[in-house]
Amino acid sequence: MKLLITGRPGAGKGTQAVNIREYYNIPHISTGDMFRAAMKAGTKMGLLAKEYMEKGQLVPDEVTIGIVKDRLLEDDCKEGFLLDGFPRNIKQAEALDEFLKENNVNLDAVLDVNVAQEVLVRRMVGRRVCKNCGATYHVEFNKPKVDGICDNCGNALIQRPDDTEATAVNRLAVYDEQTAPLLDYYKKQGILVTVDGDQDFDKVFEDIKAVLK
Ligand code: ADP
Ligand code: AMP
Repeated sequence: MKLLITGRPGAGKGTQAVNIREYYNIPHISTGDMFRAAMKAGTKMGLLAKEYMEKGQLVPDEVTIGIVKDRLLEDDCKEGFLLDGFPRNIKQAEALDEFLKENNVNLDAVLDVNVAQEVLVRRMVGRRVCKNCGATYHVEFNKPKVDGICDNCGNALIQRPDDTEATAVNRLAVYDEQTAPLLDYYKKQGILVTVDGDQDFDKVFEDIKAVLK
């Protein structure tokens, strides 16, 4: 299965990506996670990405497109992959299409997790992630068993620096301006499928499996 998952920031892409990765046995490639790993490692790219991420802006296309292409050429992507958070604008989508064509790869579907804007600031501000394994929680909607501690690995949960209210609002504006046009782009290609992401976690995944059948 070769998939893209798209949707507003906070829609639940990363959460559902974990289910999709396990169910379809495909690697989950999140550009946001790749940038956060580079920041943690203190690489040059990480330092550059940090400047944009902390303002809620997109990291420049040249950098982002390059890391995705390199990642897609790795062996574990041969049978399938799930791209999360990429593409985020038309230029990235066109670059991806060109790359896929060159490599004789077709996307099976572009999955849009649709959640209304009003719900999302609360989702982002309440998001907590494990510093060690990256598991995602929410202070109201998906609490860990022990406050502030990851159920999976026992490490501390943190709030992402870009999950402040001001940055979340900015990221939603960037989505409307730059990422929303992708829905039409993929609709025209006939591969867009949509699920309602404003439902219980399990129901969202049931709907995802149904639309991908
Ligand atoms: P994205 O990857 O799209 O930015 P996440 O998967 O990180 O979004 O989810 C954002 C926040 O919303 C997280 O704290 C997550 O636990 C929570 N969340 C995800 N899906 C749901 C849902 N169906 N209902 C309520 N909260 C959710
Ligand atoms: P995410 O983890 O998907 O919420 O992304 C967090 C941040 O990483 C975004 O606000 C951007 O600053 C950056 N980012 C992630 N993916 C991309 C992309 N495809 N293009 C540009 N910037 C990105």
